[in-house]
Amino acid sequence: MAGVLAGEAGLRTLILESRPKAGRKLLMCGNNRCNLTSALTASEMLADYGDPVSPFLEPALSAFPPKALRDWFQKNGLQTKVQHDGRVYPQSEKAADVHHFFTDHLAQYGVSLMLNSFARDIYSNKQGGLTVKTDNMNLTAPCVLIATGGVSYPKTGSVGDGQKMALALGHKITPYRPGLAGFDMPPAWINANPMQSIPDVTLKIIVNGNPFATTHGFLEIERYGIGGPAVTNASRIIARHNLKNYSFEADVNGQCWKLNPVKVRPLKEAMVTVGGVALGDVNPQTMESKKVPGLYFAGEVLDVDGPSGGYNLQAAFSTARLAVETIDKKCQTPRKSVQKKPAAKKRPQKGRPFHAKRHNQNRKRP
Ligand SMILES: Cc1cc2nc3c(=O)[nH]c(=O)nc-3n(C[C@H](O)[C@H](O)[C@H](O)COP(=O)(O)OP(=O)(O)OC[C@H]3O[C@@H](n4cnc5c(N)ncnc54)[C@H](O)[C@@H]3O)c2cc1C
Repeated sequence: MAGVLAGEAGLRTLILESRPKAGRKLLMCGNNRCNLTSALTASEMLADYGDPVSPFLEPALSAFPPKALRDWFQKNGLQTKVQHDGRVYPQSEKAADVHHFFTDHLAQYGVSLMLNSFARDIYSNKQGGLTVKTDNMNLTAPCVLIATGGVSYPKTGSVGDGQKMALALGHKITPYRPGLAGFDMPPAWINANPMQSIPDVTLKIIVNGNPFATTHGFLEIERYGIGGPAVTNASRIIARHNLKNYSFEADVNGQCWKLNPVKVRPLKEAMVTVGGVALGDVNPQTMESKKVPGLYFAGEVLDVDGPSGGYNLQAAFSTARLAVETIDKKCQTPRKSVQKKPAAKKRPQKGRPFHAKRHNQNRKRP
């Protein structure tokens, strides 16, 4: 998103991507359907992120709210649709289409995407800019945006490199905890409860015998225990409030299930990382570091996470937008004249004369 917006603004931009393919986590989103955002308003979404995320995200989400995000996708050729529960997906319900949307737009704006390229280190240089060290070269730029993700699903490339580089530059990193994760249940409970997906469950988090918070949605009985949005949203609340001795009470079709989970699933399996670059070290109005001028952050590398339902991509998109807007206004980067190239043409169907029509149209008469 940051790359496309930078291309739109005519900023000379290079994206370094450590993996052989960019956007691998995006492709997994929403069971490969990609829950892009929500039909809620910015303020309704903000209320659901909770402290300390809501106040930090307020400027970014107000500047690029869910409706504006959907309009932007629509204007640029990706239709979206709202599901009955308010979750927003691409019309095709294919994450691959969102992935193509972004890579196609990078190509159309001429934004370079350098694959297999690890950013290893970032430091302020003598010329007043920043230098990014990769394995093969050092790159200098007046502005650098770190958008390296959290630490969950490390196979997708998000391994905490951005946080390490931020730490080396004097930023605090809040400890990592699993957000949007399931819970292991005792073997006897698993044996007694077959795997199934139960809709409309209200789940209470019980601490010291009292209800602490309530979540709602699907409860999935998995091979290891319990998951599904009602449960994974609870994991996020538990992580944010550092709750230790908790249990659950689930209202399942009018029956009260008392659930005593053994433990939360590991961080690498969580859908989002709670923790990351401390919000106090980043200006929420600009996404610029308070420690290193010219350095920006967006997405899950920050100590930002939201519930299930498009909150995490919306947060990533809105923070990317705010960072790029600030870079556009503040940094004196060399400009390119913006000439969006036409989208690549589809291959002609078999049997049709290739380009015959276009040749005829373009042929000048003597
Ligand atoms: C299974 C799953 C399903 C999900 N479904 C949804 C959903 O439907 N809706 C939703 O809102 N959220 C969903 N999320 C969460 C969402 O995917 C993330 O919050 C979001 O992708 C974060 O975006 P990001 O750009 O900050 O980081 P990422 O998407 O993790 O991207 C970071 C990129 O940085 C690259 N990188 C890392 N280190 C370096 C380095 N040193 N040098 C160069 N490149 C580097 C990585 O390879 C990666 O490509 C889901 C997450 C998972 C795991």
